[in-house]
Amino acid sequence: MFISTAGRADAVGLAAALSAGLAPDGGLYLPASLPRMQPADFDGADNLVAIGTRLLAPYFDGDPLADSLEAICADALAVDPPLTPLADHGAWLLELFHGPTAAFKDYGARFLAACLARLRHAGDPPLTIVVATSGDTGAAVAAAFHAQPGFRVAILYPEGRVSPRQAHHLGAFGGNVRAFAVAGTFDDCQRLAKQALADRELARKVPMTSANSISLGRLLPQMTYHVAAALRHWRGTGSAADFIVPTGNLGNALAAIMACLSGLPIADIALATNANRTLPEFFAGGDYTPRDAIATLANAMDVGAPSNFARLAALFPDAAALRDAVFAEAVDDDEIRATLRTCRERHGKLVCPHTATALRVFERRRERGIAHDTIIVATAHPAKFESVIEPLIGEPIPLPPDLTAFLARPSRHEQLAADYAAFSRALVEWG
Ligand SMILES: *Cc1c(COP(=O)(O)O)cnc(C)c1O
Repeated sequence: MFISTAGRADAVGLAAALSAGLAPDGGLYLPASLPRMQPADFDGADNLVAIGTRLLAPYFDGDPLADSLEAICADALAVDPPLTPLADHGAWLLELFHGPTAAFKDYGARFLAACLARLRHAGDPPLTIVVATSGDTGAAVAAAFHAQPGFRVAILYPEGRVSPRQAHHLGAFGGNVRAFAVAGTFDDCQRLAKQALADRELARKVPMTSANSISLGRLLPQMTYHVAAALRHWRGTGSAADFIVPTGNLGNALAAIMACLSGLPIADIALATNANRTLPEFFAGGDYTPRDAIATLANAMDVGAPSNFARLAALFPDAAALRDAVFAEAVDDDEIRATLRTCRERHGKLVCPHTATALRVFERRRERGIAHDTIIVATAHPAKFESVIEPLIGEPIPLPPDLTAFLARPSRHEQLAADYAAFSRALVEWG
């Protein structure tokens, strides 16, 4: 069962929580309790599909989706993420960027799509997924729902504020995916999306749902690769590794923390943020003070009010227990640049600007004498952020071949004023 973090809504089953998005009291759905598990529960499970099927079984138990769990995992978790050793002793990159859009969000988006597709009934009107994006999320969600019967995707992105390559990517799907280039900021895009999703009159004509980072259908699968990496390390060494997770809205890191609280072999968890310091200030003993985001080089983590914080807080009895269990450190743009410039020489790997925050936190811990085995979560392929990295290293970064082929397709976007009437009209008139 799933309960709301706001505590004023009834507990619901998985299918209901997935379909609802937000709980009716405005809270976020969270498992009522975390199942206790141990490494032996995964004996014989060697790939992500097998590990995911066992790990998520307690959450699916008794639900209409339970019989489909293995098939959902096969759809969404087919790419086994490599755990590649760094030049440093006892450190690995968990590379989550080998899916269709080269960022970790592919796992969550595909899992959500696989669940929602199985909750549809013949004859249902099309369901429109409304997503505001500053880059990675929109592409992952579009790729996951592209050409899926019964679904449409409306992407809202701020015109001129995503890289040309990202803009081309968002417009290259076509078919059931429309890319709206909004004359405004990312906040304007989010406002349009929220307003549409809350508009009951519009919902009668255009059934809609969101696919943002609070979606339970994205959170649950994000546990699986942390567990797969933790088990691999455990099986090889008999010990639990530390994890460092690049963090913005706290979805990916929260999943790692849930896996750790379930008893699986994850030792310390450190959150690496960019210069948006809401979490590091809280973990250093300050109040939790959400604020406006500031723009950084790790732009998919430009978040001043992490949307999963309420879930994180609900998992621990009080702030002291939470501060005991998790660490957070900020890395500013100068350090991101320095890390991007030196990482290939120092660690043997080129990383994206988000992963660079985690790599910098790792370097600081080693400088402080912390020698634990460490898994650094790599959230996107560096070639997605060529406009940041190439000037620093002075050479081109080749894109993965699948993405190169995809980006060779023509791209088409629609210009939209940051105006709700125009957006809702576009949704209603979608032929
Ligand atoms: C979304 C994103 C993040 C942040 O993940 P959260 O779950 O929001 O904390 C980090 N890196 C990349 C590349 C991303 O796209």
